[in-house]
Amino acid sequence: MGNLTKTVFIFGDKKAEGNAEMKNLLGSKGANLAEMNLLGIPVPPGFTITTEMCKIYLEEGHDKLISIIKNEVTASIKFIEERTGTRFSDAENPCFVSVRSGSRASMPGMMDTILNLGINENIVEGLIKKTNNARFVWDSYRRFIQMYGSVVMNVRAEAGDFADPFEEILEKEKKQKCYQSDNDFNAEDLKNISKSFKQLVKKSTGKDFPNDPWEQLWGAVTAVFESWMNERAVYYRELNNLPQEWGTAVNVQAMVFGNMGQNSATGVAFTRDASTGEKTFNGEFLINAQGEDVVAGTRTPRQITTEGSRRWASLSGIGEDIRCRDFPSLEEMMPEIYQELAGCAQMLELNFKDMQDIEFTVQEGKLWILQTRNGKRTGAGMVKMAVDMLHENLLDEKTALLRVDPKRLDELLHPIFDQDEIIKACCIAQGLPASPGASSGRIVFFTEDAQVWSSKGENVILVRMETSPEDLKGMVAAQGILTARGGMTSHAAVVARGMGKCCIAGAESLKIDYKQRTIQTENLTLKEGDWISLDGSTGKIYKGKLKTSEGQLSVDFEKLMNLADQHARLKVRSNADTPMDVMTALRFGAKGIGLCRTEHMFFDDDKIMAMREMILADNEAGRRKALAKLLPMQRKDFEDIFRLMNGLPVNIRLLDPPLHEFVPHDEKIQKELADELGIPHEIIKKKIESLYEFNPMMGHRGCRLGTTYPEISEMQTAAILEAALHIKYEGIESLPEIMIPLTGTVEEMQIQKNIINQTAEKIFEQYDDRIPYLLGTMIEVPRAALIADKIAEHAEFFSFGTNDLTQMTYGYSRDDSGKFLPMYLEKSILKHDPFQVLDQQGVGQLITMAVQKGKAGRPNLKIGICGEHGGEPSSVEFCHNEGLNYVSCSPYRVPIARLAAAHAAINEENNRSITSRQNASKAICFENYHF
Ligand code: PEP
Ligand code: MG
Repeated sequence: MGNLTKTVFIFGDKKAEGNAEMKNLLGSKGANLAEMNLLGIPVPPGFTITTEMCKIYLEEGHDKLISIIKNEVTASIKFIEERTGTRFSDAENPCFVSVRSGSRASMPGMMDTILNLGINENIVEGLIKKTNNARFVWDSYRRFIQMYGSVVMNVRAEAGDFADPFEEILEKEKKQKCYQSDNDFNAEDLKNISKSFKQLVKKSTGKDFPNDPWEQLWGAVTAVFESWMNERAVYYRELNNLPQEWGTAVNVQAMVFGNMGQNSATGVAFTRDASTGEKTFNGEFLINAQGEDVVAGTRTPRQITTEGSRRWASLSGIGEDIRCRDFPSLEEMMPEIYQELAGCAQMLELNFKDMQDIEFTVQEGKLWILQTRNGKRTGAGMVKMAVDMLHENLLDEKTALLRVDPKRLDELLHPIFDQDEIIKACCIAQGLPASPGASSGRIVFFTEDAQVWSSKGENVILVRMETSPEDLKGMVAAQGILTARGGMTSHAAVVARGMGKCCIAGAESLKIDYKQRTIQTENLTLKEGDWISLDGSTGKIYKGKLKTSEGQLSVDFEKLMNLADQHARLKVRSNADTPMDVMTALRFGAKGIGLCRTEHMFFDDDKIMAMREMILADNEAGRRKALAKLLPMQRKDFEDIFRLMNGLPVNIRLLDPPLHEFVPHDEKIQKELADELGIPHEIIKKKIESLYEFNPMMGHRGCRLGTTYPEISEMQTAAILEAALHIKYEGIESLPEIMIPLTGTVEEMQIQKNIINQTAEKIFEQYDDRIPYLLGTMIEVPRAALIADKIAEHAEFFSFGTNDLTQMTYGYSRDDSGKFLPMYLEKSILKHDPFQVLDQQGVGQLITMAVQKGKAGRPNLKIGICGEHGGEPSSVEFCHNEGLNYVSCSPYRVPIARLAAAHAAINEENNRSITSRQNASKAICFENYHF
């Protein structure tokens, strides 16, 4: 266990025991609270209990934890009391605290928070005398019971009931009194609600609500530690690849109140636009409210800046007069506070060199900053901010590149709604464009339904009044998220942006009925299962399913990609079999084709017939006759690809799949085939039956086809080289690489090599001309990796086929692993799906060995990878570290691989400089020792 001597770090009055570097021990929130104090930002005093204590609590339990931290926590509460001039448990002059989680990486809303702790009925009376504000005091008390009751005492909805039981009491009271919002409750109402809340706690837990502030504090601290392991937090960490062993810190901080009247407020501000990345200060606030009101989205927030407020009003169809009267900005309402907030925001962004997401509270005209963290953002936002910050000299090139998560580029590459479709479509409502993207799906209202429907292959849109952390799984399963309430900083908006998922928030005109499972607009009712389409960039909601088309790549995206290429060592190619794929790959910056699966070219209507004729032929002469029909068609395909690639390398693999994949198994189609070929149906049927294999993936496929039927390899070689010669006469260069699949023995390699080279020589003689070509093999059978030095004597290049290599190393069938892999992942028997993320420990060893042996056999051996892993960032990094020349992936993953390749090179360099610094400091110690 690490640091046990100091378990609590205090901060306040511009001093702090911690700083921003101490995220591992203090969590991100605790470290940043300390840092803000050091920067002179107004932060309520408090203290952080370290993440080490979370581990103690989870391993050794409540009593052990309290025995370790009790003295330091007691002294730290005294520190808060001295700074605030209040006393914990004192009815005349009470001290209230908030208790919040905070791990190394922010996990918005996944763990628990308790506000207003330290209050009881006695203190309520005292405080009313002190503040003369009974409404505020009773409101604070009812909020505390609600939070503490659900977080610490686990008061939950009864089975089958969806609503939060505390919210149900509030709603009932509101209905009875005919109030519009929670703000209409008076002190007496809130007092009665507090009483009902306590009765609810007693009824559902059998326990009295605790009055002693110390008991409340220990309960809250342990509940926050406990929340590290709650289901949604565990799920969030799995989703985001965050280690379970980190633990959370607990931050206890003097309360400041945004609900003390019209000169109090609470809000969230961003230094840049989290959706688009634009450098515009923005955010939302609520007058007379506490923090959770903004995130919960239960009240419509107002905009911080006047510019933002005008934009919001125009989106919502609200005129300037009404906006000024009913929805003024913070800038207009509290200009001095606004200026101070903008100043703090700027200082924080400059200090942390990243977009900040800042929580603030105004208590009776005084600004307090409660939290700052690097803001979650969309993929597009990530790119724009990184490029802008590079130009602003806030970041250097390498840091700017590392700021963009390669996986998030996916969001930028995907289609948008077709403009022609939008013109015709029926827009049923408009909300806030909370997270961009275009998505269509069937309406579902509950997380469970989103999961079930999506597991059956349905596209769904999760429609909620507002979302809460409980909805995380549904949000993951859905194509898009739509809420009727909440603003740009509501839970739905923040989480969707973090996931890069399309989201429209606050579509207030929608009436959602959970019981009937319907959405009502002014003149339309939609029900569960109906299609809707969300445009997350405009906030428009359309009836039905809209067609999509390719989006435009931004100038910043191109800049980032070019920068990535300058830093990367690995080249990125694409797997592509059609001119369409090739064009997409080129548009995304592929520097070659790493795998052209020729079999994909045989499925076109015109080719499949000749292919079947070849497969069904009785002898070599029959096969050659059919192959002669295929040759010009294959040649034409290669010409098209070479022409597009214009001199860039094109790796073409000879036929790989088992032959039964090309013949019909359906009796009716077999009969049609029999008619067309003029062969009796019975014979065709028998021949097809003879192609049956128990385990075709391990059967008659790959180079075993070319070895048993050499005429296939001959025809394909001829098609490739003739195509290259033809386009040479058009003045276009080509660089063909002929690749043998599934090689497992040197003899197979030699046989195929001879066929290819002899065929090449024949063609060169015929044309009286030559073109350069390379001849190599896939390494996808473990045996090939083991004898790579011998194979390399005959191969000019290797390409790792990690799909088959994974299949054969694990012994998991690529086609059948769906039956057990989900359970293996759920139970952590495997950390990742090995068909998606390269298994570096096992399959990786074979690659390492094959690279070393291959280079020993042929020092200038060219090496790449063309399995699915070629577009997965951690696998790309592995390939970089193993010294491969290139990775090849599907066209849409080319940008991801380009950026991942740059990350790999930068990480390698950074690690090298850390090691050399460490060595230098060891040397210094050594010198000192000798002195
Ligand atoms: C592989 O096995 O990794 C590969 C690229 O070949 P295929 O997926 O076509 O078997
Ligand atoms: Mg393969």
